[in-house]
Amino acid sequence: MAVRLSKTRIMSALQCHKRVHLEINRPELVHHSKATQAAFKMGHEVGDIAIQFYEGKHDGNAGTYIEYNGGNFSRALKQTETLMTSMFRAPVFEATLRHDHVLVREDVLLPTRDESGNSWHIVEVKASTKAKPEHINDCAVQAWVHMGSGYPLSRISLAHINNQFIYQGDGVYDGILVEVELTQEVFGLLPTVPLWVESARRAAAGPEPDIPVGPHCYSPYECAFINYCWPCDSRYPVSGLKGSKKKLAEWVKAGYRDIRDVPVSEISNEKQLRIHRVTTSGRAELLAGASEFVNELPYPRFYLDFETVSFAIPIWTGTRPYQALPFQWSCHVERAPEEMEHAEFLDLTGEPPMRALAEQMIRDLESHQAPNGPVLMYTGYERTVINGLIAMFPDLAEALTAITERLVDLHPVTLANYYHPDMLGSWSIKAVLPTIAPDMDYATLEGISEGTEASSAYLEAIHPDIGAARKDQLTLELLKYCKHDTEAMVRLVHFFEQSSK
Ligand code: SF4
Repeated sequence: MAVRLSKTRIMSALQCHKRVHLEINRPELVHHSKATQAAFKMGHEVGDIAIQFYEGKHDGNAGTYIEYNGGNFSRALKQTETLMTSMFRAPVFEATLRHDHVLVREDVLLPTRDESGNSWHIVEVKASTKAKPEHINDCAVQAWVHMGSGYPLSRISLAHINNQFIYQGDGVYDGILVEVELTQEVFGLLPTVPLWVESARRAAAGPEPDIPVGPHCYSPYECAFINYCWPCDSRYPVSGLKGSKKKLAEWVKAGYRDIRDVPVSEISNEKQLRIHRVTTSGRAELLAGASEFVNELPYPRFYLDFETVSFAIPIWTGTRPYQALPFQWSCHVERAPEEMEHAEFLDLTGEPPMRALAEQMIRDLESHQAPNGPVLMYTGYERTVINGLIAMFPDLAEALTAITERLVDLHPVTLANYYHPDMLGSWSIKAVLPTIAPDMDYATLEGISEGTEASSAYLEAIHPDIGAARKDQLTLELLKYCKHDTEAMVRLVHFFEQSSK
């Protein structure tokens, strides 16, 4: 019997035959990054809003959502068939169809008419902010199954998020989705779909395909088997040289597993040469520029870090999809050597936190008084967030702009002057910290240890159904995590200072 496939599996096969083989035969190897998991969640939120958006848009007839609770799809297939052959024509959400053992779930199916009579319009809903080439393939598989199941199809479009949409409140989301017509491109691909299906089947049923790693592991989607396929069994895996995925894949193919295996003659990129040199030497490199820079910083020094959340579907009036909205900050204040204070802000009420956050930051960063010293950050993210606050609250613009004028980024200084072999090609604060302050490694934090976890914790904490004990726990974890971030910067500056003594 032919291998059963879904649209998702065919899309995996278009990315890499080994991927579809592993998904079906070695599912225990799947590892989704935190970012991918967050993207899945956003996708579900957008799907929910699409139902609200298209509900009743067809002659006012309410649509039907086809439930699927795991297990087999027979009930969903039967219910879809009943609705699609009914005289009472209305939108169907998650219409479930199967053709030639390929199963699809159509996000939105709208009844329509063309010259030959009743027909259908498929709308595929994506959480992205534009239509991408891979979406056309995705729609082509749906159209092929739809028509192969014996149903007419007159249109197929993609609905994606309009990132210029500004939520005006009251649950009104008209205009948040933009529809792009893909009918012509999709119909042009229909003869190719059976070939995709056949090759996906061969890859699934045969032995594990011998496919080398390459740029395709990250495009169009980050593959869930990267940890399995890319070699990571040496102390300094080749992927730590960073840069072009194509070049890294060539080195892996040549049999190099460790950065130190790669002959220096094969490296031309300056940054890779540096990583290779330091890794091969086994000793960290710290240049005088680091201490020269930090020794010039006057007191008081403010070390600032934000945590933000973004919603595909905005929940607060006046905000846009995917806008980074701060709900927390931490600030260590170093008045003089060894004279440290700490200030922080966290709002878990579920109300928009941005205004109160900005006002307290203006006070605690002493924006209105002098001397008010540099505000240290790591990468330019804090500047972006403050600029977002300026756009939101013009009456606070002067005080907030004064803070942006004090911002000093520690990232470029670190990048230019410091590298340790254990950083594996990354200058993120999480990569740098264990090499200068092993006692502060993020891996030792219990609960929240990265930014995506902080946003997830925030969303959980503001949910109306959360229990008091869990909320208290999340509050503590969030405060600890953000404080850890600013303390990390303090330790970095002190490390650079000590290096000149
Ligand atoms: S990591 Fe790369 S080679 Fe491995 S299955 Fe995924 S796409 Fe294919």
